[in-house]
Amino acid sequence: MNTIIKKVDYINPKNDEDVFLEAASIIKNGGLVAFPTETVYGLGANALDPIAVKKIYEAKGRPSDNPLIVHISEISQIYPLVKNISKKAEKLMRVFWPGPITIIFNKTDLIPSETSGGLSTVAIRFPENKTARYFIKKAGFPIAAPSANSSGRPSPTRASHVKLDLNSKIDMIIDGGYSEFGLESTIIDVSSDIPCLLRPGSVTKEMIENTIGKISVDKAVLEKLENGERPKAPGMKYTHYSPLANVTIINGEQENVISKINSLIKENIEKDLKVGVIATEQTKGKYICDNIIVIGDRNNLKEIASNLFISLRRCDNLGLSQVYAEAFNETGIGMAIMNRLKKAAGYNIINV
Ligand code: AMP
Ligand code: MG
Repeated sequence: MNTIIKKVDYINPKNDEDVFLEAASIIKNGGLVAFPTETVYGLGANALDPIAVKKIYEAKGRPSDNPLIVHISEISQIYPLVKNISKKAEKLMRVFWPGPITIIFNKTDLIPSETSGGLSTVAIRFPENKTARYFIKKAGFPIAAPSANSSGRPSPTRASHVKLDLNSKIDMIIDGGYSEFGLESTIIDVSSDIPCLLRPGSVTKEMIENTIGKISVDKAVLEKLENGERPKAPGMKYTHYSPLANVTIINGEQENVISKINSLIKENIEKDLKVGVIATEQTKGKYICDNIIVIGDRNNLKEIASNLFISLRRCDNLGLSQVYAEAFNETGIGMAIMNRLKKAAGYNIINV
């Protein structure tokens, strides 16, 4: 299959009407179109068409029990898709939509089980990104879209990442620049009395609690689950976000982290392994290693979040076999950063 790649004016999408019409025509005919959102690039299909949705799983190599997030371009689109909207859900929608948070509802029969991974619930998101919204509007129906990467690889924050993973497997990529937040959406389940955070993101636990009060956090968010334990978001059980290199997180006081990483670098060099460090602006000059990937300023977690996946992909570009990454505080966006980093490292953490 030839994958069409078209750039659009992401500030004023109307200037590229012809591209959106082409993308809408592809998706109306059951095809797959990757598009930018403010979190990561999504791989879209008609959420109401089981045959189209199945193609997403095939292109990504995604396990079929891992449900998809359904994207809408205006609030009114949600009503036929969900059974009831609780007071707390309504509040979250009012405060954070459009934006990087996904809310879980009980689904109606309009959502095929292929889209919901066989669950009786459905995940809904109303993105802020103008390209995403214009595309969904032109399609005229809700769009199911997981991240547009091959399953298990770091999520794509640029059209070029989508091309690397999915070229010739999908019909079209709309190139609308980079994804501002760079981490997948926050997922919250408000279907029970105490809402539960299933995946942390740029809308933080603290921001949610300021809006609807105390929430719980699914164990899978920050810890490795024991055999037999299941995360509430099925996708959280899969190894995720991994570069080809082995990743190890080093956690502790900055000086201890630096000296531990330097001693590990020596061991790797002695074994002839190509080693790298995911470092910060504060520490980049402190390692005895040529392959330093600077993820951003430690005091600017938003910047770190937005550079996380591109940094993991850089490990592959450099052909590294072992990578050491500094840990971050797990408050605010730090919770989302550490959730993704721990998964990339297979929960391999050394405390110093
Ligand atoms: P992705 O679209 O690749 O960012 O992944 C979507 C995430 O949302 C996966 O972890 C899914 O398991 C999760 N998800 C989607 N729908 C539901 C649902 N109905 N209940 C719980 N988790 C969901
Ligand atoms: Mg994903």
